[in-house]
Amino acid sequence: MKQYRNCSLKTFNTFGINAKCRQLILIEDISEIEHCFCIKEPCLILGGGSNLLFTRDFEGTIVRLDIKGIEKTEDDGASVLLRVAAGVEWDELTSYALHYEYYGIENLIGIPGRVGSSPVQNIGAYGVEVKNTIEKVEGFYVASGDPFTLTNTECRFGYRSSIFKNELRGKCLITHVYFRLSRVPQFILTYQELKEELARRELPVTLRNVSHIILKLRDRKLPDVKKIGSAGSFFKNPIIEKERFEALQADYPLLVHYPWREGKVKLAAGQLIELCGWKGYRAGDAGVYPQQALVIVNYGNATGEEIAMLYRKIERSVEEKFGVLIEPEVNIV
Ligand SMILES: Cc1cc2nc3c(=O)[nH]c(=O)nc-3n(C[C@H](O)[C@H](O)[C@H](O)COP(=O)(O)OP(=O)(O)OC[C@H]3O[C@@H](n4cnc5c(N)ncnc54)[C@H](O)[C@@H]3O)c2cc1C
Repeated sequence: MKQYRNCSLKTFNTFGINAKCRQLILIEDISEIEHCFCIKEPCLILGGGSNLLFTRDFEGTIVRLDIKGIEKTEDDGASVLLRVAAGVEWDELTSYALHYEYYGIENLIGIPGRVGSSPVQNIGAYGVEVKNTIEKVEGFYVASGDPFTLTNTECRFGYRSSIFKNELRGKCLITHVYFRLSRVPQFILTYQELKEELARRELPVTLRNVSHIILKLRDRKLPDVKKIGSAGSFFKNPIIEKERFEALQADYPLLVHYPWREGKVKLAAGQLIELCGWKGYRAGDAGVYPQQALVIVNYGNATGEEIAMLYRKIERSVEEKFGVLIEPEVNIV
């Protein structure tokens, strides 16, 4: 275990915000976990810091689980069950799956962050959500130190959400996630751009080719967090009633939209933000990424407060122009 006092968090969040915390604890072995149950001040569990915005210093303790390990606990020939420790980098897992030819998470390649955070917002990309492969989640309740195991259904996964982002927000320490991956090829190619790119390059649909194309598509749209600070898509795509959408469509016939559950319609938050004129906007070091309006960036020394001011202005202008509320996908601290 490592412990630091009055620690800068700049290198612990992909936005590169220079906030501080009173104490930072890095847990390197599961046997050290009991140290997390006797913290008597506000506590935040940190993963790779790629879905967080620190708007101020954190007056408390930040805990990061650095425990590692990918263990195959079942293999029935058709599928495998992997028990993966929270501190494993997400892309270490996608590389592992690619190496052993396990199917199910290839569309999620290139998402920053760690395995322990993947169920929290039910990470998703290119038509796939991680909930499709999660069998169960293990960990401890922070207040009592009691262990828990939640099945997929009990995790109450939704669009960029789960029980860990709602009822159990801040209450659980996820230590392991179990993934059921297929040994039999099965691809999800519903995402138009992915299908088109494979066809354009005349590539057969293989695990390697799908992964490769997705990485290329991601590179085009998202900043490299080693060069420009960001937390990826800042806002969730809004889901609205069909009648509301039809009224909007009369004024904006080119609105991108996707059918959603219960007859609702999902809009593209990036397009709404772009139509409000924010794409490429910059005030000091806080800005909107020129290649994708959904991404708010820190060009260097923006404070969390400056980024927060910008996202609130964007929220307001989208509401004023379209009457649609866009919500941050990023966890605001
Ligand atoms: C360039 C870029 C592209 C991105 N693209 C995508 C994308 O395509 N799809 C997508 O879904 N997301 C995307 N994201 C967002 C982000 O990568 C994911 O949400 C990722 O899962 C966050 O992981 P993390 O380890 O960095 O979590 P953190 O940001 O450290 O934490 C996120 C939340 O999870 C909680 N948490 C973390 N670890 C634990 C734990 N062990 N136990 C309990 N709670 C925990 C934290 O308290 C916090 O509330 C992108 C981000 C960036 C910067």
